[in-house]
Amino acid sequence: MDCLFCKIVSGEIPASLVRTGDRTIAFNDINPQAPTHVLIIPKKHCENVGELAVQDPQALQELFIAAEEIAALHSLAGYRSVFNTGAEAGQSVFHAHLHLIGGRALQWPPG
Ligand code: AMP
Ligand code: ZN
Repeated sequence: MDCLFCKIVSGEIPASLVRTGDRTIAFNDINPQAPTHVLIIPKKHCENVGELAVQDPQALQELFIAAEEIAALHSLAGYRSVFNTGAEAGQSVFHAHLHLIGGRALQWPPG
């Protein structure tokens, strides 16, 4: 399978790693939208977060635990966790990932 994030998990493609867990890895987004923009992904390939919830709920839990840890490391006063599901919602990489975004005031509603 030709999946960019699977290649980051395997080390075939380099990334700026932030955290490695049993079931997840975290790395800096290559096109950050805020001072902190980290992607947290399951090691196992799942197309989106809904699929991940069914196939590996422990990895889903670990995504949120990692987000809390990384937010604390960055001393974030708050952060946004985003999962885009489907191209219409802005998903461009079809391997589930949590966007951890923070370090600046964020607007609501999102675009
Ligand atoms: P999404 O559009 O929700 O699927 O998010 C995909 C994210 O992956 C985007 O924010 C991209 O900037 C990011 N991205 C794409 N390629 C890489 C890469 N090689 N390393 C780190 N982040 C990447
Ligand atoms: Zn993948």
